[in-house]
Amino acid sequence: MCGALARQALSKTKSEENEPRLSIGVSGETRIARSGGTCRKFSLRIKPLLRLHASVCCTVNPATGVAHMFELNRRTFLSASGAALACTHPFEALAAPVIALPKDVAQRDAATVMAVRTPSPVVGMTFDDGPHPKLTPILLDMLKARGLRATFYLIGNRVVTWPDIVRRIADEGHEIGNHSWTHPNLARYSDKKVLSEIDRTSDAIFKVTGRPPVTFRPPYGSFTKRQRLMLYEARNLPTILWSVDPQDWRRPGASVVAKRILKGSKPGAIILSHDIQSGTVKAMPQTLDGLSGRGLKFATVSQMMGWPLWQSRRFRRAG
Ligand SMILES: [Zn+2]
Repeated sequence: MCGALARQALSKTKSEENEPRLSIGVSGETRIARSGGTCRKFSLRIKPLLRLHASVCCTVNPATGVAHMFELNRRTFLSASGAALACTHPFEALAAPVIALPKDVAQRDAATVMAVRTPSPVVGMTFDDGPHPKLTPILLDMLKARGLRATFYLIGNRVVTWPDIVRRIADEGHEIGNHSWTHPNLARYSDKKVLSEIDRTSDAIFKVTGRPPVTFRPPYGSFTKRQRLMLYEARNLPTILWSVDPQDWRRPGASVVAKRILKGSKPGAIILSHDIQSGTVKAMPQTLDGLSGRGLKFATVSQMMGWPLWQSRRFRRAG
């Protein structure tokens, strides 16, 4: 069943020229080469796109027994405990990175959005990693009471676990985006595996809501420029990052989360947060009212991009 619907391409109709299209495109061939020694190197070669060479070097200090790992392209994602694990299970270790903007994000490209240039006093609240069976409904109540719209980047395997909450998110005017199926560190994945994670999630959201997500947010922000361009080319999905990060996943407490969001937000901001964190949900009344009090309006990511409202769009499957 997985990915079956996504494999049936969703195509544009004449009246829906701007509608996104889902189709199976690039499938890469992945080869992992290893060389031995205390410092192992792993190179990932993807054909026909031979540009990605992600190398990992792992060593153990014989004096301390402490493992050190150097990820040549993205060292910011490695935690100390992950590095220790890395010597025996290098790829699994990379699945517990730190949330951060990609290092190559400074080189702007059409496939990547961190904020929107706009004279309008509008911001986009985004909530990642849900749905959460208890916290997401509480958050939805808060948004409903204030008549505000937000964007939820959902994890595919949670969509199929709590479809009623997913349906409620869509029914109440919020947008749903794609946040992968299992929340892995996609920067280490082949194109084939990346597209499988994304297609399976789009498929699940389509089944529940009747429409596919039109934007993607990579778990941990971990998605290379080459991958962002590949996804845009293959699935017409822009990668939505953020301009405000309250670091709420570190659980600094509700008032700190609210303060950081209020401090960082300005017109066009895209605000990252997580509705699986109780502190984040607790921070929302103060955050939402504070932003409103400054005259800022709330928009979904589609609205901020100048697209039609996600809920009003119609999609059809290609034959
Ligand atoms: Zn996430």
